[in-house]
Amino acid sequence: MHTQSTTLLIIGGGPGGYVAAIRAAQLGIATTLVEAEQLGGTCLNIGCIPSKALIHAADEFAKITACAGDSALGIKVASASIDIARTVQWKDGIVGKLTGGVGALLKKHKVNVIKGWATVVDGKTVDVKTADQTLRISCTHLLLATGSLPVALPFMPFGGKVIHSTAALAPAVLPKQLVVVGAGYIGLELGTAYRKLGVQVSVVEALDRVLPAYDPELTKPVAAALNRLGIELHLGCRVLGLNASESGVRIQAGDAAEIELPADQVLVAVGRRARSAGFGLESLHLDMHGHTVKVDDQCRTSMRDVWAIGDLTGEPMLAHRAMAQGEMVAEIISGRRRYFQPAAMPAVCFTDPEMVVVGKTPDQVPDCIHASFPFAANGRSMTLESAEGFVRVVARRDDHLIVGWQAVGCSVSELSTAFSQSIEMGATLEDVAATIHAHPTLGEAVQEAALRALGHALHV
Ligand code: FAD
Ligand code: NAD
Repeated sequence: MHTQSTTLLIIGGGPGGYVAAIRAAQLGIATTLVEAEQLGGTCLNIGCIPSKALIHAADEFAKITACAGDSALGIKVASASIDIARTVQWKDGIVGKLTGGVGALLKKHKVNVIKGWATVVDGKTVDVKTADQTLRISCTHLLLATGSLPVALPFMPFGGKVIHSTAALAPAVLPKQLVVVGAGYIGLELGTAYRKLGVQVSVVEALDRVLPAYDPELTKPVAAALNRLGIELHLGCRVLGLNASESGVRIQAGDAAEIELPADQVLVAVGRRARSAGFGLESLHLDMHGHTVKVDDQCRTSMRDVWAIGDLTGEPMLAHRAMAQGEMVAEIISGRRRYFQPAAMPAVCFTDPEMVVVGKTPDQVPDCIHASFPFAANGRSMTLESAEGFVRVVARRDDHLIVGWQAVGCSVSELSTAFSQSIEMGATLEDVAATIHAHPTLGEAVQEAALRALGHALHV
């Protein structure tokens, strides 16, 4: 068997692993990265980027289709159609550019990248099966960044017409009728995109509202928009399985009679679980929390010099969290003092309207001031034909320190930067209220929310 040795060995080339590798190399640490599939992991190949590409294509198609009807803007289009194979090809082009870019960055930083399947032998040794050999690599530090996998329903496993997000992101043809199980991030982002592409979409959710992890005031405009789009919502429903002819999904609300939803395809999006099995991790006997690896606030596992980051360490399973953890671990290994204690961790749902949550909501802060500013009073929103939603700020009552922002509305994902920065930099309501915000922008709603919390909003 061929052998190699390195200071830092990283398993997994997703946003957690590749960022850790780049930063470690910048800090002069000899680094090897093992990736079984494509660099960029779930995020670049089958997650964040392809889903946002498909959402954009669906938005454009829906806009043009709307113009073929009665456009208030006076735009006239005879008819619109979509060549989904070409859409997928365009999406794949973006993925290819980004994953190629990650490869180039790793090469530039002289990271030793090995394509192969890693199996943990012990805390200092990993075997890697490549296309033509098995390598044994010894290391001083082992960083686990193996990500997550979609959760399957035991009574309706993946296969045939039952798909997970990966297949939904690369349709060869569009189904006529899609049933989505789970009204969380994936179910609603992709369910909305498919509906805008002309597919009949039904969403089945076990709990009694969409995006149940978020506060109801925030999700109300999203639910209203789903209804307007013609997505059928079946809330508080149990999925029982496919019917006998596999032409539909059987569901039941409470004790009511069972009903069947016709389906050419069923997208199961009921969460993801840490990828902690199948590569010898059990042999380390790490402290675990279910499927996830337990880590402290430096991403150290229960074994010395074995680290874990990203989805493998549980919620929130977000790419920016994985990247921040990866960067931090590289710095700690290089001797810097770092802790993972972010004041703000933005979460964005790319539904239509979009939703952003950063920091605390009013019910999480005992003595707070909170105020909302509606986009209906924002000029830029009107020019974008989208005056629904609002920005909400949450601040401590005693010193006006901002501890949370929430927003729902058109393009609010881009406001998440201002939200996170104000919280991380310890801004008060007065700081944001006194900052000149460009006109006309959606960002003016951020300033106005702070002004309103202080009792003197100007435009509402
Ligand atoms: P991953 O990206 O999963 O990477 C892990 C890598 O490890 C994989 O490439 C895998 O092949 C490799 N690997 C695993 N085991 C081995 C082994 N034994 N040997 C070698 N290689 C191995 N997050 C956001 O923040 N914003 C979004 O908009 C967003 N959209 C998403 C949309 C979808 C459809 C999905 C599925 C996810 C989305 N996410 C989003 C979540 C995001 O993709 C993940 O949080 C992120 O990719 C986690 O990064 P990671 O590095 O922990 O793991
Ligand atoms: P999710 O946790 O967001 O939503 C799952 C939904 O399924 C929940 O509403 C849950 O109540 C429901 N559910 C669970 N079991 C069910 C059942 N048997 N029948 C009906 N409903 C059921 O999970 P997801 O949408 O699969 O996404 C997985 C993860 O991927 C997310 O948690 C997130 O971390 C990540 N992601 C992030 C983004 C983003 O940041 N924009 C986008 C997509 C995915």
